[in-house]
Amino acid sequence: MEKKPEYPFDTLGYGETKEVAEGIHWIRMPLPFALDHINLWLIEDGEGWTIVDTGYNSDDTRNIWKQVFSELLLNKPVKRIIITHFHPDHVSLGGWLNNIWDATIWMTYSEWMQAQLNRYGGPTSDIDTRMDFYKEHGMEQSGIDGYRETRPDFSKIITPLPPNFRRIIDDENFLIGKNEWRVITGAGHSPEHAALWCENLNILISGDQVLPRISTNVSLQCNEPDGDPLRLYLQSLEKFRFLPKNVFVLPSHDKPFFRLHDRIDALTGHHTSRLEATAEACQEPKTSRELIPYLFRRDLDKHQIGFAIGEAMAHANFLVYEGRLAKSRFPDGYIRYSLL
Ligand SMILES: [Zn+2]
Repeated sequence: MEKKPEYPFDTLGYGETKEVAEGIHWIRMPLPFALDHINLWLIEDGEGWTIVDTGYNSDDTRNIWKQVFSELLLNKPVKRIIITHFHPDHVSLGGWLNNIWDATIWMTYSEWMQAQLNRYGGPTSDIDTRMDFYKEHGMEQSGIDGYRETRPDFSKIITPLPPNFRRIIDDENFLIGKNEWRVITGAGHSPEHAALWCENLNILISGDQVLPRISTNVSLQCNEPDGDPLRLYLQSLEKFRFLPKNVFVLPSHDKPFFRLHDRIDALTGHHTSRLEATAEACQEPKTSRELIPYLFRRDLDKHQIGFAIGEAMAHANFLVYEGRLAKSRFPDGYIRYSLL
């Protein structure tokens, strides 16, 4: 029987804050997607504050931040902004916050670089490149048009980050206030995602790497068509196994929870069964688009279809590396996967 996560706190309204552990405050911010919120963390840091993740660039989020500045920060400055990864809900107000506080941005190198690339229109943010990629994996024109409609232009959403930052690396320890925190990097969801572990407080800030209810999106990206992000993701989950069984997890979506290890087991099991469903479906050659109904039983909106095809490709590529599927381009131009 799968053991469900345990949630010690009820959810917050947008803009409400709650101290979830000594000196760590939870803020819930709105997102304009089906996934309608993100959790950010404010950590007391001596004579100031450290912020973990920044929120999506919208009037709503900026207004909530201003309220937090006046009500919670008690005239103490924000000294440091740690950003777990480059996705817009995490990074996009980094430049805005830096402008207000002159606080250094702390990120892993790959995430900082990827955020800069997206800001300046690099290959992963170019919508035409992405749509060509979806097309050769079988996405129909209506799916392409629908996705285009809903996808925000990230180069406009990310506020310009400052030209320099403080790099954080895997296994590095640093102090926030009087507590030591360790960086635990992961991949598969983004290139070098940073989670933060504090032994003293027995807390893991897990970012998007482990979420209690939904599974983290693991997608093949158009700049890396032969990538194996699902393998990287599953390997990254294993890096959390050494943590105490009763570690308290602060995720970027849903509520803080206990039972990390059960959640890791559940996520691993979930992907294993999806891999089997993928292999079975490919007894007859399938495009990634055709694999979606085998992997997702629910209805997907125009935006979610992009996540879904990326996930289908990630599962199929994993099986190619396992030697179970062949990936080839058919005479009609589509890329299909077939059981070996
Ligand atoms: Zn993310």
